[in-house]
Amino acid sequence: MHGRTYTADAAPGETVTVAGWLHETRDLGGIAFLILRDKRGRIQVKLEKDGMDDALVETGLDAHRESVLRVEGDVEEEPRAPTGVEIVPTAIEVVAAADPELPLDPSGKVDAELPTRLDNRTLDLRKPEVQAIFRIRSAVQRAVREAFREHDATEINTPKIVATGTEGGTELFPVSYFGEEAFMNQSPQLFKQLLAGSNLERVFEIGPIFRAEEHNTPRHLNEATSIDFEGAFCDHTEAMDVAEAVTTAAYEAVADDCADELETLGLADEFAVPDGEFPRLSYRDALDRVNATGELDEHLVWGDDLSTEAEHILGREVGEHYFVADWPSEVKPFYIKDHDDDEETSTGFDMMHPRMELVSGGQREHRYDRLIEGFEQQGLDPEEFGYYTEMFRYGVPPHAGWGMGAERLLVTMLDLDNIREAVLFPRDRQRLSP
Ligand code: ATP
Ligand code: MG
Repeated sequence: MHGRTYTADAAPGETVTVAGWLHETRDLGGIAFLILRDKRGRIQVKLEKDGMDDALVETGLDAHRESVLRVEGDVEEEPRAPTGVEIVPTAIEVVAAADPELPLDPSGKVDAELPTRLDNRTLDLRKPEVQAIFRIRSAVQRAVREAFREHDATEINTPKIVATGTEGGTELFPVSYFGEEAFMNQSPQLFKQLLAGSNLERVFEIGPIFRAEEHNTPRHLNEATSIDFEGAFCDHTEAMDVAEAVTTAAYEAVADDCADELETLGLADEFAVPDGEFPRLSYRDALDRVNATGELDEHLVWGDDLSTEAEHILGREVGEHYFVADWPSEVKPFYIKDHDDDEETSTGFDMMHPRMELVSGGQREHRYDRLIEGFEQQGLDPEEFGYYTEMFRYGVPPHAGWGMGAERLLVTMLDLDNIREAVLFPRDRQRLSP
């Protein structure tokens, strides 16, 4: 809309045209106020029933909440107005009318359950605290891109429709591809490795991953956004350095650029940027720390996965972001390299927030013969993955990398209850639309 002024920029003495949503109408009898809301804030519009054009007053008073209005008028100082200024209108136009009954109340006075909110996301997003999450999400993605650039990584985009999954048939969504069976990719793992093996060397991607997991939890989605890194000539410790740096950069950007959003979310005081050096525990250290608390019924032994409960105990013990490295080879996938001096132990690592896992990574197996052995040990047919394994015959250097769930980064950063809060249109067991 040409010549439109944001409500936040309307200064006393100016004649402006503002446009936005009718947040509220306060009718006090002889005088009434419309509160108009746009992307940047709110402004009061004064209607005087005796002193103003009847048609104009009527248009303003008849408009239902959340209708879109265009208001032209003079901006005046008014200490009693919410923002210290008000508009005395000379014209009001209903640009898009809203029905009188709304499926949810964007003013937030009436609470709505998450499913209702997600069904009516456009209205839900009109609430400042919901918008704040997605403005922060945007800032995080930008910061992550910049952090990768500083680490000399090239942004890539890999296919999401694939012939074979990363780790075999489980957790895959099948799709029909011109009559052939194909799948939605569960991870860019194999592609990013193929690209690290090219002269690109260091690559990153921010893109969707699809997981047909059955469980409905506050930290799992069926479509998530994965932040992926892969670097040639990197070992697992260097990959951990990058994960730490990218995470810290995301927090820093939010602290620097999203003060208003943090305030809106009630986090202004408690928001803390991690110090950039996360403790690095070995898997064995992790078992010992958990066992020492005596809080688990069973005693964890080598080869056990860390249950959600064990992760929570460890999170409480460590109290900040941390790594668990040197996992048993048997619990990590075939593409993770074992330590040269100890084949029982892999270079696989997880990066944890005290509440949940954020990252899995490791150094990759780049030796052709070992890679093929790994496939066979995991019960996978290496021939099905020929497009991947063959390239390892033509000079793929040692490389390492990781994948981080973008939504988990946000959920933990903003202390949200449910991962769905960090997705505009989540996909889960119950939800395929909108
Ligand atoms: P978990 O054990 O917590 O289910 P995972 O170990 O199966 O996760 P990975 O395959 O290691 O997950 O994926 C790397 C990262 O991607 C995870 O650490 C997590 O941040 C994110 N991620 C994986 N699956 C999901 C999902 N279903 N929903 C949201 N994020 C996910
Ligand atoms: Mg993992």
